[in-house]
Amino acid sequence: MKIVLLGPPGAGKGTQADILVKRLLVPHISTGDMFRAAISNGTELGKEAKSYMDKGQLVPDIVTVGIIKDRISMSDCREGFLLDGFPRTLPQAEALDSLMEEMSTSLDAVLNISVPLDRLIDRLTGRRMCRNCGTIYHLLYNAPEVENVCDACGGELYQRDDDKEATVKSRLEVYEAQTAPLISYYEQKGILHTINGDQPINAVTAQLGEALGENWS
Ligand code: ADP
Ligand code: ADP
Ligand code: ZN
Repeated sequence: MKIVLLGPPGAGKGTQADILVKRLLVPHISTGDMFRAAISNGTELGKEAKSYMDKGQLVPDIVTVGIIKDRISMSDCREGFLLDGFPRTLPQAEALDSLMEEMSTSLDAVLNISVPLDRLIDRLTGRRMCRNCGTIYHLLYNAPEVENVCDACGGELYQRDDDKEATVKSRLEVYEAQTAPLISYYEQKGILHTINGDQPINAVTAQLGEALGENWS
């Protein structure tokens, strides 16, 4: 299955993606994770991406589309993939459509996780990530068993620079201006499913599964 997860920053895309890929057995492709890996490896791509991410802005389409094309062309994506955080602009969505057409395939579903704006600030400022394996936590809503320690690998938890309150506000504005228009773009294509993301994590997973025609409840 070829799936796109859509939603504002903090909607729960990464959290749900980690769960969904274990059930669907497709690769989890997160442009945010790819940029963060490039930053920690000190590559040129990382340096460029960081300059935008730190300001809460999007990395330019030409760069982002380039890394997605390379990734989706890899053989493990032939049977399917789960895109998390891409596309985020109309030009990215159009580039993805062209790529699917070139590969004689198409997207099966776009899952739009909807969460009211005022809930997103709490989610983002309370988010913590494992420095080692990337598992996502929340200080209140999804806390690790031991403070600051990853349940999965024992790694240290940290707060992303772009999850500090000042940057969060500009990211939410960027979402409204540049990403929210994708909702009607995919609605018109008849592949959009909107799920209420303001529910417990497992309830959201069950509804995402339902939208995909799977029964996980
Ligand atoms: P996104 O990838 O869309 O930015 P994340 O999956 O990183 O979102 O989730 C953002 C924050 O909200 C994290 O701290 C996560 O633990 C928390 N979170 C995710 N889903 C829920 C939920 N259903 N209810 C409450 N908190 C959630
Ligand atoms: P979140 O889900 O919390 O918004 P991500 O980890 O998906 O965070 O993205 C972090 C940052 O990486 C974004 O704020 C943006 O700067 C950059 N980024 C990720 N995906 C894209 C994309 N598709 N286009 C442009 N920039 C992106
Ligand atoms: Zn970990």
